[in-house]
Formats: sequence, C-alpha cells, structure tokens
Amino acid sequence: MKRILVTGGAGFIGSHLCERLLKEGNEVICLDNYFTGSKQNILHLIDNPYFELVRHDVTEPYFAEVDKIYNLACPASPIHYQFNPIKTIKTSVMGAINMLGLAKRVNAKILQASTSEVYGDPLIHPQIESYWGNVNPIGIRSCYDEGKRCAETLFMDYHSQNNVNIKIIRIFNTYGPNMNPNDGRVVSNFIMQALKGEDITIFGDGKQTRSFQYVDDLVEGMTRMMKTKKDFIGPVNIGNPIEFSMLELAENILNITGSKSKLIFNPLPQDDPKQRQPDISLAYNKLDSWKPVVELHEGLTKTIKYFNGLTNIR
Ligand code: NAD
Ligand code: UDP
Repeated sequence: MKRILVTGGAGFIGSHLCERLLKEGNEVICLDNYFTGSKQNILHLIDNPYFELVRHDVTEPYFAEVDKIYNLACPASPIHYQFNPIKTIKTSVMGAINMLGLAKRVNAKILQASTSEVYGDPLIHPQIESYWGNVNPIGIRSCYDEGKRCAETLFMDYHSQNNVNIKIIRIFNTYGPNMNPNDGRVVSNFIMQALKGEDITIFGDGKQTRSFQYVDDLVEGMTRMMKTKKDFIGPVNIGNPIEFSMLELAENILNITGSKSKLIFNPLPQDDPKQRQPDISLAYNKLDSWKPVVELHEGLTKTIKYFNGLTNIR
C-alpha cells in the first residue's frame, strides 16, 4: 500500500483522482485550502479509513511521510485565478517549491498538473510538447500561465540538481462531474445557463476552439504517467484532440438538455487563446497507447446529469 498526497484534492480533478487512488488500494492524504474546492466533492470518501483530509495552503511548507505526490493545488478557472492574481502565482510557484522540497526530503515521486496554458495563444497547431509557447507575461492570464511555466522550471531544476523523481503533464481543457457550478469555465457556464433557461454567454464570435477531455480519461492518463519509469519525466500533453468551437459546444449542450436558451454574444476577454488542440502522440507512445475514449456527447450527458442533480440549481 502506497501513501499518496494529492494537493488540491477537494477540487474537481483532485476529487476524481482521490477516488481512483483509493480504489486502487492506496492510502490517500487529500490536502486543500478550499479556495475553489469543496468538501462536497469528497464527502463520499470521508468514511474510508485510508482517506485523510488536511486543511492546508501549499504556499506554506507541509511535511508528511509519503511515497507519491500529485500537485494539483491551484485555481484553474480564469474567474477564480484572476480574483487574486498574486495569490495564484504564489500558489503555483511557492506550492511547487514546498512540494518539491517535501519530495526531496522523503524521496517521493512527484507529478505536476501543468496546463496547455503554457502554450498561451499558440502559433503552432496542434500543440506539441517541444513548442515553447506564445504567452503574454503581463496580461490578465499571466498569473496562471507564468506561474505554471515557472513551476515546470522548478520541477526540471529539482530533477537535474537534486535528482528528484518528477513527472510533468500538461492538461488540456477538462470537464465532468464535480466542477464548481459557479466556476466560470465554459462547460459549466453553458450547462448551468441551459438548465436554468438563461441566455448562453458566448464570448467573442464563438469561433475560438478548445478540445474538451472528460475527466475519467485525464485520471487514466495521469495515473499511467505516475507509473512510468524514472527516465520518462515529460512534459506530456494529456487531452482530447477533437476540437470544437464554442458555438458547437453550445449547440451540443442545447441539444442534450433540450433547453430553449438563446445565444448572446459578449466581448472576448483579453488574451483569450483562439485555438487549442493537443498533439497526443507522445502520451500514446509512452503511456501504453493511452488515448481518450469518452466522446463529447457521452461526457456532456454525464456532466449534465450531475449538474441537474445539484439541489441549488434553480
Ligand atoms: P479546481 O479549482 O476545481 O481545483 C483546484 C483545487 O486546489 C481546489 O480544491 C482549491 O481549493 C485548491 N487550492 C487552490 N489554491 C490552493 C492553495 N494555495 N493551497 C491548497 N489548495 C489550494 O480546478 P481543477 O480543474 O480541478 O484543476 C486542478 C489542477 O489541474 C490545477 O492545478 C489546474 O491548473 C490543472 N489544470 C486543470 C485543467 C482543467 O481543464 N480542469 C486544465 C489544465 C490544468
Ligand atoms: N467562454 C465563453 N463563454 C463563457 C465562458 C467561456 O464563450 O461563459 C469561452 C472563453 O472565452 C474561451 C473558452 O470559452 O474562449 C474556454 O474558456 P474556459 O474559461 O473554459 O477555459 P480556457 O479559456 O482557460 O481554456
């Protein structure tokens, strides 16, 4: 039995990861400061004797004897990470330093949840891991993008200087149950608006694209990455390469919900990437032929069912 620390474990992705790791027979320490996460997401795990909950902020050092660390703590939606940008960059940078320091001291393997945002508004398409990105260092997304880029640098330097056993994954837009309904991200926004019969807020002309991955596919890729041999550290893209425009996403959600909501067009936020699609050949080659298996329609149907079940929806 391995003891595994999941920072940001009460968040959307973290809660699915904790559940999966417990199912695999591990002991899990879920660390969170509940900025965007919620105890609701992990309520069903609390009675498990191998599950431990710790209220802690990763910007402060933390010590525990663990075998593996998944470092997910960081707000991920633009609304939340722009709420307190200094805190966001501190979370990524100081959080990485604290968790890498812990990994070094206890000789744990550590995985960083990095992001497709390190590619910024990409000038090559689809994005491959060797692309250095097109990121504005002083814009409204910089606290997140540059924080995550710096965290990658720290991971690589702890690896080369201190031989820490690291793994870096770059996650592309992921959705599914346990997303915060007030998260502000496009999938949760459109679903909540459709279910409430409110206008669907398309930013810009809606022709910008994203590639949406269902959370189960991500958790599968993440756990496979953690199990790779020491010499494969990444970074590796984990995402679904099928690309959709925001207009197509809205159309899909309206069809599945049967909602009569109308589309309205709001201004496009500053530095909003125009397109995003992962090249997943590295993940396929290195992670036992990993590729996403949940199609958008199936994933959206499950996610809509989850949001429909929330008591505070109407
Ligand atoms: P989320 O906001 O639901 O989860 C983040 C969790 O981290 C929350 O539980 C939050 O309370 C916690 N947290 C935030 N700051 C903290 C701090 N200082 N100390 C301790 N805990 C803190 O977001 P998510 O979508 O589950 O994202 C999880 C990770 O995956 C993040 O690191 C994010 O950058 C990365 N990621 C997510 C996506 C996506 O599409 N969901 C894409 C790329 C990368
Ligand atoms: N978006 C939108 N309406 C919304 C929320 C987001 O059209 O209510 C757009 C946003 O401008 C972006 C895309 O959807 O082009 C994805 O946004 P999200 O915040 O989910 O993720 P990110 O921009 O970080 O990929």
